[in-house]
Amino acid sequence: MKLTKELDNILLRIDKMKLRLLELQQGDLYFYNKAITELNGGATVIVDGRTMGMYASYSYLGLIGHPRINQAAKLAIEKYGTGTHGVRSLAGSLPIHIELEETIANYKHTESAITFSSGYVTNLTAISALLGREDYVISDKLNHASIVDGCIMSGAKFVRFSHNDMDSLEKRLEQIPKNAAKIVISDAVFSMDGDIINLPKLVELCKKYQAWLMVDEAHSIGVLGTTGNGIEEHFGLDNAIDIKMGTLSKTIPSVGGYIAGNKDLIQYLRHTSRAYIFSAALPPAQAAAANEAFKVIIDEPWRVECLSKNSKIFINGLKTRGFNTLNTKTAIVPIICGDDICAYKMTKSTQERGIFVLPVVSPAVQSGLARLRATITAAHDPDDIERAMDIIKDAGKEFGLIGD
Ligand SMILES: *Cc1c(COP(=O)(O)O)cnc(C)c1O
Repeated sequence: MKLTKELDNILLRIDKMKLRLLELQQGDLYFYNKAITELNGGATVIVDGRTMGMYASYSYLGLIGHPRINQAAKLAIEKYGTGTHGVRSLAGSLPIHIELEETIANYKHTESAITFSSGYVTNLTAISALLGREDYVISDKLNHASIVDGCIMSGAKFVRFSHNDMDSLEKRLEQIPKNAAKIVISDAVFSMDGDIINLPKLVELCKKYQAWLMVDEAHSIGVLGTTGNGIEEHFGLDNAIDIKMGTLSKTIPSVGGYIAGNKDLIQYLRHTSRAYIFSAALPPAQAAAANEAFKVIIDEPWRVECLSKNSKIFINGLKTRGFNTLNTKTAIVPIICGDDICAYKMTKSTQERGIFVLPVVSPAVQSGLARLRATITAAHDPDDIERAMDIIKDAGKEFGLIGD
């Protein structure tokens, strides 16, 4: 380590980040990596010793801490302990993994399913196992980072279409050689904007151009459809998606990711996905928790109804108060601030007033569209939501985002 900053790019990068963070910390505008010391059932949290309304959670149905799910995890620890004997293909498979995969396949109406130890890794490993250099992957411009990284890692020709723009997708598909293998990939619900992909048109175009269709339901499971089954239920389609991807870390209060599809596809992934072959199995407690959570969603349908009602109250209420919430239709509600600093100041002001929301700035979102990325869950009650919106309104007035 004799290199000086002038010579070493790594040191330069580290230093640049250090300065940027220092500047934010000095302005008291740094909000990341804070510990949530108490969950309080999901509607409120304690952070830095203060109780705040929780508007930054992915636990859309309020299932973290659900007694049945906790109990399933405890029983799994008693039965299996806390670890596995390695990777799934070798000594890491337990009956609970197989049960979980059956539960997912049933829930998603597919023949089979495979699980991985994170949602991020699921996209990386599945996309790169399916595609090679001579193939094409066609991806929505606002797709999640894990999809983008999977596309790059696959080595396939990486083509992007304008966000949720089916004309743009068709133009891209027209330009790709007819007999080339191709996958079209999209988020079901976009993780920064909360809008929903036009699935019926997507399905039609994939059929017309003979492309595989892969959809990431990270923010769709438990959220879309009258029973929370996801984007196909939302649009009244069944088995329209070839490769159904989802996470076990959002509505499902565990960790991990899955691909559901036909049995040949899943068998192929079991023998080719590097994250399945070279990374350890899900811990038994997490697999059992995820397995139980799917059952709770079915047994407690009121949660999905409540989330849907709360989302409407939140989106309409913020719009009425004058905020730009883009085209969200779901539990993810962007509150557009403009530049990064404005988003940081809005966060500070909102948190000081007792509402826990977090900012998203560039490069995670387009520069100029920095925002509070608020989320709503089934754990909130309508009066709390009204109060939260009034607080956000007061902060919005302070920074000129809305008028009086
Ligand atoms: C959160 C998320 C993932 C990653 O899931 P993890 O389980 O957190 O690794 C993948 N895709 C989308 C769209 C997400 O929002």
